[in-house]
Amino acid sequence: MRNVSVEILLLLGYNKNYFVYSISNMEIKKVKDLVVNEVEARRNQLGELSLKIHSNPELGFQEVKAAGWLTRYLEENGFYVERGICQLPTAFKASYGNGRPVIAILAEYDALPDLGHACGHNIIATCAVGAGVASKLAVDQFGGSILVIGTPAEELYGGKIIMADRGAFDDLDVAMIVHPGTSDIATTQMLACQGLHIEFFGKAAHAAASPEEGINALEAMLQSFTAINSLRQHIRSTARIHGIITDGGEAANVVPVHSAGSFIVRAMDNAYLDELKEKVLNCFIGAATASGARLQYKWDEVCYAPMRNNLALAQLFAQNMQSLGRSVSLSDPEHAFGSTDMGNISQLVPSIHPFVAIAEKEVQVHSPEFASAAASDRGIKGMLDAAKALAMTVVDMVANSETLSNIKEEFEQAK
Ligand SMILES: [Zn+2]
Ligand SMILES: [Zn+2]
Repeated sequence: MRNVSVEILLLLGYNKNYFVYSISNMEIKKVKDLVVNEVEARRNQLGELSLKIHSNPELGFQEVKAAGWLTRYLEENGFYVERGICQLPTAFKASYGNGRPVIAILAEYDALPDLGHACGHNIIATCAVGAGVASKLAVDQFGGSILVIGTPAEELYGGKIIMADRGAFDDLDVAMIVHPGTSDIATTQMLACQGLHIEFFGKAAHAAASPEEGINALEAMLQSFTAINSLRQHIRSTARIHGIITDGGEAANVVPVHSAGSFIVRAMDNAYLDELKEKVLNCFIGAATASGARLQYKWDEVCYAPMRNNLALAQLFAQNMQSLGRSVSLSDPEHAFGSTDMGNISQLVPSIHPFVAIAEKEVQVHSPEFASAAASDRGIKGMLDAAKALAMTVVDMVANSETLSNIKEEFEQAK
């Protein structure tokens, strides 16, 4: 039930059966102030929660403590919480309100091996929770539902892709997530991406006494790298191919019988990714033929989709961030590329994945310096501002159905 008082209705038109009305900008502004104050009032709680997750880093699908703390906070603040959704023990869905629109704010809370929270997912998580709790005020005032969806294992396993396959995002109108970074940007260029695991099997022999008897699995791997390096000259500038050798033999005096490597292929769209995957695979097939080693390969089951930014939604978020005194650009002038499982969600439902600055430009994401930034005062300020802007963006959408229609129309046209 929409709780709209008579004095805030502006009569725009009339036909036989119903009145068409909209809510005044003044009323929207009033509720935006309320949600901003709500986040601000929780500064200490959210800051502590963020630092607690930061100092207890957990790898993908093992985020038991983080999921426990986040769901408890949501439950204590009036959300109905379902834990272990999609048969993933550390995934969750917290809901508040009724009916449409259904607006989801997504949380990530996994850390990186050795580096801890060097991607700052503690900030994503507490930002989502803070925005969700503040958005209750918007939903109370104007109707609709707010969800905070806990999405584990972004870094290593593409948890959202698994959750999407299991229907977690089927009934949403909008999905939003904010990631910490080194500048305030409302959209992001995230590439389609798939991992490839390679093994070559050769034949062992004494490397000096009888090298002619051996088949060198390491050489097959090295030839593959050379072929990929040659290929790289002739691919689109937005595509990426990179990899590592995980097994290069046992001893220098033995012809390597086995080699293994992991590779990632990335492209701006799925069609070019498919084209590039075939070319990359041919590099390995060619090396197998040349060396005589047997090739075995496996593509990752999850394939990251490119990010489809909803510009109407991104603009709202940018305006709301600007109202907090931050300078936000709509797109990244430096065209930094990565991939995220949020890309797959953005193919299903209108989405944004903005970045909020928590460190200087020189600091690299996935570095110890970025991990420190994720626990800094600037990190907490960024988290709070992003939570405020997300909650204000929720106000924009639940207060004005036309706003949401524009967002959805853009999404449908981009299909
Ligand atoms: Zn990361
Ligand atoms: Zn990340």
